[in-house]
Formats: sequence, C-alpha cells, structure tokens
Amino acid sequence: MFEKLKNLKTYEAGKPIELVVREFGIEPKEIIKLASNENPYGPSPKVIEEVKKNAHLMHRYPDDSFYELKEALADKFGIDSKNFVIGAGSDQVLEFAVHGIEPKKVLMAGITFAMYEIYSRQVGAEILKTPSSTHNLDEFRKICKQQKPQIVFLCVPNNPLGECLDANDIYEFIEEIDEDTLVIVDGAYQEFASYKDKNKALDVKKLISYPNVLYTGTFSKAYGLGGMRVGYGIANEKIIKNLHKLRPPFNITTLSLIAAVNALKDEEWVKQGIENNFKEMQKYIEFAKEKGLEYIDSFTNFIVLYIPNSTKIANELLKRGIIVRDMSSYGFDALRITIGTPQENLKVINTLREIV
Ligand SMILES: *Cc1c(COP(=O)(O)O)cnc(C)c1O
Repeated sequence: MFEKLKNLKTYEAGKPIELVVREFGIEPKEIIKLASNENPYGPSPKVIEEVKKNAHLMHRYPDDSFYELKEALADKFGIDSKNFVIGAGSDQVLEFAVHGIEPKKVLMAGITFAMYEIYSRQVGAEILKTPSSTHNLDEFRKICKQQKPQIVFLCVPNNPLGECLDANDIYEFIEEIDEDTLVIVDGAYQEFASYKDKNKALDVKKLISYPNVLYTGTFSKAYGLGGMRVGYGIANEKIIKNLHKLRPPFNITTLSLIAAVNALKDEEWVKQGIENNFKEMQKYIEFAKEKGLEYIDSFTNFIVLYIPNSTKIANELLKRGIIVRDMSSYGFDALRITIGTPQENLKVINTLREIV
C-alpha cells in the first residue's frame, strides 16, 4: 500500500508557536514568529469585523461559484472573472495544475518554493533544477531546449531567497518557450516587488494572453490572511476550465470567502503594511552592514542573512522565543527572517547582537 509515496517527503512548515510554548515554556504572547512570511500586522480591521459579524453563517457552505470574490479580483486585475480559479491557498492551485498535467519532467530554480517539487514528485515527475540557486533565465532556456519539461515554475519574487526577475525578461522568456510547456508564474509576493521596483511589476493581463501561462496569487502574504487559506489562479479560459475539474466543492470556507472579499476593499491597509515592511527591512540591512554579514537584496517580506553557524544561531533564538528559518538544509549557513512589526524587529536584532 502507498508504494508510490515511498520516496516522498512531507513539507516542513515553519515551527508553530505552540511547539515553542511546549518545549521552552515561553508564554505565547512573548513568542515572535518570523518563519513563515506571514503579515505581522494581520488583515485590515474591517476584515476582522466582517468575519465576526458573519460568524453565525459557519454552518452554511460558501457560494461555490465564489462569485463575489472572483468579481472583486477581476476588478483588481482588469481581467474577466472567467479567468480565475480559487484555491485553498495558491498552493492548492499549484496542486491542481501539477496533478492535472501529470508532467514527466518539471523545471525550477536551484533553490525555490518547496511545494513545486513536492507536488511534482506526487505524480512521479522528474525534477530538473537550474545550476544557479536564484532564477537565471538563460539556464532555464537551455534546459527547456534539451529536456522539454511540461511545466516550468518561475517564482517571482523567489521564496526562500527573495530575488526577483524583471517583468520584461519573463515575457521574453515565455515568448520563446514551447507552447506545450505550461509556465507557472508564482506571484505570492508580487505586491511587495511591484511596490519596490516598477520593473518587477507583472502585467497579469498580458501574461495570460499567452496560451501556456498560469499566474498564481495569494491572500496569505500582503493581505494578511495566511490562516484563512485563500489563493487564486489566473489563466486563459481553457486552462482554467481544466483546473476546475480538479477543484473539490467548497474548497475555501464561508468565513475565508468573506475575509478575502473584504480584504480587497481595504487596499490602503495593504499598502501601509508593504511600506512598513520595506522600512523595517532596512533595520536588518543596517545590522548586516554593521556586522559585515552578506544578505540578499529582497523584493519580499523576508530577508536572507548569511550568518556562520546558522543552525546554532536559530536554536539560540528559538530558546529566547524567536522563530526564524534556518537555511542550512540548502547547503549554506543563513537565516531567512520574515520582517515583523517594529517592536519584533528591534527585539530580534538586539538578540542577534547578543549571540552572533
Ligand atoms: C506562501 C507562498 C505560496 C502560497 O501560499 P498559500 O498560503 O498556499 O496561498 C505560494 N508560493 C510561494 C512562493 C509562497 O511563498
């Protein structure tokens, strides 16, 4: 039984607060969790208010067409609502695509979002990775020509490293690629990248004018709804129709739907959070410069700092109630730190000063 899953690994999520409470006896409110790129400010207060106001609806299934959410997204992107599929997180949209195609080969950057590989292995695909850890499109082109993968994953910007391709380079790449290859453009952090640098801002309408592109987005990061599990895929109708064949009914909850619809009504809140993010990121950059540590220029809500003995440092932080991501499993010593609130960042940096 389950023979084909023998060599699969389970996704390792960032350590939950509950684990630190159990292991180190630290009060939950004392714990600083900066390991999963969540929005430290949470969603707009209006979202929380609407979810509370509608809590009595939780015995009802949501509108399975997700009409209101798709209309609101269609408005945001200037695209028809027929071009959307809703997922329990954009992760689920990635799953629909990989399971729908059952690719023999898939191609991704040397170091990128772990779920691409996990979903692809579930269907027995061979995993091809570029020699560079960050996205190098010349390497992608070369491997595409030689190996003809059925899916190419571009993480724009890239998690867990934080670098970001230019929009024009992506269009150019897609134009050259075989139409039988689905290019999945994962825009989980697009709101951050497009704020920081206009050259990174993807025109999704243009992207989906290509016959073989699926764009994915999420409410988990900039919109502060990680715990509600809402994401979306955008593509031409033919692709979307196929993805819908794999979507289970009611795949997001009644309250998640209400949260997402209302999150889109307060873009000012989202913008403020993004502004704070880059202002606060500067504190980590100054700390790195002060200590002579290398870091990756980030277009996201996290930053990678190269720190010797990162496993030990991550454990020391954990003992003090600070959860970050150790990168040593990728073969180098670094920490990926989600940018927190001003107070959280101050505490993290002061603690790092003590132990580095
Ligand atoms: C967080 C993240 C996602 C999806 O998150 P969901 O919560 O499933 O929407 C997708 N891609 C990348 C690169 C991410 O970092």
